[in-house]
Amino acid sequence: MTGIDLAGWGRFPVVPGREAAPASWRAVQGLLTGSDPVAPRGLGRAYGDSALPVAGGVAVTGTALDRILGFDPETGVVDCEGGVSLDLLITTFLPRGFFLPTTPGTRFVTVAGAIAADVHGKDHHRAGSFGAHVLDLTLATPDGGLVVCGPDRDPELFHATVGGMGLTGWILRASVRLKRVPSAFFRVRYRRAESLASAMAILGGAEDAAYTVAWIDGLAQGRHLGRAVCMLGDDAEPVDLSPAQRDRPHHRPARRTRTVPVDFPGWALSPPTVRAFNGLYYATHGDADRIVDWESFFYPLDAVRHWNRIYGRRGFAQFQALFPDASAEAGLAQVLERIGAAGAASFLAVLKRSGPAGPAPLSFLFRGWTLALDLPNTGEPLVRLLADLEGILLRHGGRIYLAKDAVCTRDAFATMYPRLAEWRAVKARIDPRCRLRTRQSDRIGLTP
Ligand SMILES: Cc1cc2nc3c(=O)[nH]c(=O)nc-3n(C[C@H](O)[C@H](O)[C@H](O)COP(=O)(O)OP(=O)(O)OC[C@H]3O[C@@H](n4cnc5c(N)ncnc54)[C@H](O)[C@@H]3O)c2cc1C
Repeated sequence: MTGIDLAGWGRFPVVPGREAAPASWRAVQGLLTGSDPVAPRGLGRAYGDSALPVAGGVAVTGTALDRILGFDPETGVVDCEGGVSLDLLITTFLPRGFFLPTTPGTRFVTVAGAIAADVHGKDHHRAGSFGAHVLDLTLATPDGGLVVCGPDRDPELFHATVGGMGLTGWILRASVRLKRVPSAFFRVRYRRAESLASAMAILGGAEDAAYTVAWIDGLAQGRHLGRAVCMLGDDAEPVDLSPAQRDRPHHRPARRTRTVPVDFPGWALSPPTVRAFNGLYYATHGDADRIVDWESFFYPLDAVRHWNRIYGRRGFAQFQALFPDASAEAGLAQVLERIGAAGAASFLAVLKRSGPAGPAPLSFLFRGWTLALDLPNTGEPLVRLLADLEGILLRHGGRIYLAKDAVCTRDAFATMYPRLAEWRAVKARIDPRCRLRTRQSDRIGLTP
């Protein structure tokens, strides 16, 4: 076990802590029955403190438990350990014609982390979130036991684990249904929108498209508030591809990845630089139809390793809001106006349509609109800004995504997630002594 500084992807906050990477199920069980509180951890892609241990606790990382245990090519069901990354699933199964049932915007996420946050992608309106495709999973529980649960086997425990942020047991393995895809490419329609209302009209009018998302210019104000580039995608059939692509439709084209080698200085992401970047992006993405490969379509950020270093040593927070349909346009506009007024530079703002809520009580999405944006850590001004954004969410019946959160308050969380009592009943049954705890769970009151 090593003592180190630990952080999420945003490097806000950074805390001293200890980390263990057990290589066997028995070792996980040993850590769970030890004396220190345990924070389950995957590849550390949650932005804030979701996977950070409390003082005196230990982060127990799953990355050494990354074996694929079985695969049924008839059904597409893969059985794997929780530390298997989405990247490994893609590189193993895409050449055989299968892809993830839904995916977040990075593939460097573990299966356990994807279940714990019940992650979603550009296809939530069609596919639901990740937990909807999990058939069963095995948890190491704080009493030293192993429990298998699924939608038909202890469903209360299963649904409390999906989106339960690692607090109902350490996910050792899961079986997940992959989906058959016609190729590794997508037919994408790019449509420019001059305002938030027009971006919402384009995305909302394209629910027949399998994947929809919009990049929003987070700094545009006035009549251009929320101007966007919308992307409407569908799986490409071999007939849509070039002759070379058609020969090997599931082939992964070789790509160069770049690395940000050091932390950028603080001024690198000042409002003028971001404004220039956003202006250029908007100007160069006119209406067009293109064939795009899966890496460019789903994971443009993964092409640059350690891109979080561009925010410098102080790091950044991501704010991801969800608004119900009725209040979405007003709520989103207020968020963008507040960020504009604060001069908080965000070159990554993403708007998505979400489908109906799933059965898991703490799962993030319900039917509405979700906006995610990165905000550099400026210290006290950032904390004030995030508090104001939380207020906008509360006034509009919205909620915050725990996988992106670093500051949400206990009262706000309880208002945003009204099925909390249901989840707490399962937590009390499975972990009465609260052995599974994180900085976030203590802060928002999921653990005392
Ligand atoms: C560039 C980028 C883009 C992203 N895009 C999206 C997106 O589009 N949609 C989306 O939904 N999310 C997105 N995310 C967030 C990310 O998908 C989630 O935070 C995911 O949970 C990270 O998984 P991880 O393996 O890194 O887990 P960590 O970040 O290490 O942990 C996340 C949570 O999972 C729990 N956990 C981890 N391992 C286990 C285990 N073995 N057992 C029990 N609990 C465990 C942790 O306790 C913690 O609560 C993005 C993140 C990044 C960096």
